[in-house]
Amino acid sequence: MKSLNFDNRFIRDLPADPIKENSRRQVHKACYSFVEPTKVSAPSLLSFSKDAANLLDLDSDDCNSETFLNTFSGNALLDGMQPYAMCYGGHQFGNWAGQLGDGRAINLGEVKNQSGDYWALQLKGAGPTPYSRTADGLAVLRSSIREYLCSEAMHHLGVPTTRALSLINTGEQVMRDIMYDGNAAYEPCTVVCRLSPSFVRFGSFQIFSARNEHEQLKQLADVTIKHHFAHLLEQFEESSTELYLAWLNEVCQRTVSMIVDWMRVGFVHGVMNTDNMSILGLTIDYGPYGWLDDFNPEWTPNTTDSQHRRYRYGQQANVALWNCYQLANALYPLIEQTEPLEAILNEFQSSYQNQWLAMMASKLGLENVEEGDQELFERLETLLAQTETDMTLFYRLLANDELSVDTFENAYYQTPENDYIEAMTNWLSDYSLRRELDDIDNQTRFNNMNAVNPLYVFRNYLAQQAIDKAEQGDMSMVNELLEVLKKPYTEQSGKQHLAAKRPDWARTKVGCSMLSCSS
Ligand code: AMP
Ligand code: MG
Repeated sequence: MKSLNFDNRFIRDLPADPIKENSRRQVHKACYSFVEPTKVSAPSLLSFSKDAANLLDLDSDDCNSETFLNTFSGNALLDGMQPYAMCYGGHQFGNWAGQLGDGRAINLGEVKNQSGDYWALQLKGAGPTPYSRTADGLAVLRSSIREYLCSEAMHHLGVPTTRALSLINTGEQVMRDIMYDGNAAYEPCTVVCRLSPSFVRFGSFQIFSARNEHEQLKQLADVTIKHHFAHLLEQFEESSTELYLAWLNEVCQRTVSMIVDWMRVGFVHGVMNTDNMSILGLTIDYGPYGWLDDFNPEWTPNTTDSQHRRYRYGQQANVALWNCYQLANALYPLIEQTEPLEAILNEFQSSYQNQWLAMMASKLGLENVEEGDQELFERLETLLAQTETDMTLFYRLLANDELSVDTFENAYYQTPENDYIEAMTNWLSDYSLRRELDDIDNQTRFNNMNAVNPLYVFRNYLAQQAIDKAEQGDMSMVNELLEVLKKPYTEQSGKQHLAAKRPDWARTKVGCSMLSCSS
């Protein structure tokens, strides 16, 4: 394998936990603890992403090498690697949970690639760390496949996300009770290597603020800005209030864009706790997420959240704003003024509203947002929820020239009733009139719509099918999905089965429509 060029600036520039022993504990005044991955007995490479490997200047031969397997299973360290787990806290389901941290993720270091980009490498499922609390530090095959494939799928959909390099079976097994109902069973353990310019979260700042460790709070803010928001230093003075405000504003705006993308493609994160919010506005921590099959704003895949459905599809923007409030609170000691913070949070709302409108216009193939369009969009969403309609298929079919309720036959999970047919017919006629106001030909509109409305998404039941096969030792569907989801907007011959709406058997199946945090 080619050698990687490490420049571990996070640990070089930030305070370490002085204790080196791998024991579970509260870690104060430190951003991370040094800890090594646990060695595994019989690693085997299940899959790797060529695209993610390219980010590290690695090719397929490199990924198939013995060194790659040993490194990304956690069995060996390359020259320049300095493994560590990060300290952070977070609000879980609205409540402050105190210290969380990388309980089963171990960073190996930061690669500086040939283009000068930095990629932090992180093994998820690499064994216990000081932050493991009562858990084992391991990850199972099903949750690792879900993280691995969804990270790459999201990237190719154009949604900001962390990436996934490799999926490695460790040879170990661990007991998990998937639905927390007393049916525990052994499952194979795996390690995913994920990549991100940074794994710093909202909760990384919250932990220092909650503990009144303001010196470390400032250090982490300054270093995060220096490494990842350097453009702001050209405009604002180091450590100035204006700089921190501009930075918070950018974080909030990146979060807005990310959520608008989730809404566009029908992604429901499922666990938008503040420890799962990236400071770079990337989708991070793929747990009990899901994809809307039928368009239902009330839906969440996460059964752990089934009572309040805090993290349901239609609530994601509000929750992201709530999370930004928590980040603003955490940064208050650096800013000490409430008014500009409130202005930034208000800006979140107006910006979300504008970007949502623009996104909906693009899904409908409209060139701009005109007066009356908002009502048109909202009427559509009400209709989509009225008769169970596959969101993904609906928007692809909407790109056709001639539209009637029959156009969408393949997208319905229920037989449309008369009042729906009448309302939808009216809507389609209003929409067709609205389309005609734009000065753009049918073919261009068709192409524009198909460039923002994906045909292939990582449907919940497809994930489960790929997992079922992988658990039998057959990785073919994982690898097929990895390839097809690279071009989610392009119809691919022979791949109709990966664009099909949810079959009836998957409606209420565990793993397809119901997921838990057990992973
Ligand atoms: P999550 O719900 O995946 O965001 O996890 C919340 C916290 O629990 C994080 O600090 C994780 O590192 C930790 N965690 C989750 N699963 C495990 C596990 N199997 N072993 C150790 N820590 C875990
Ligand atoms: Mg997490």
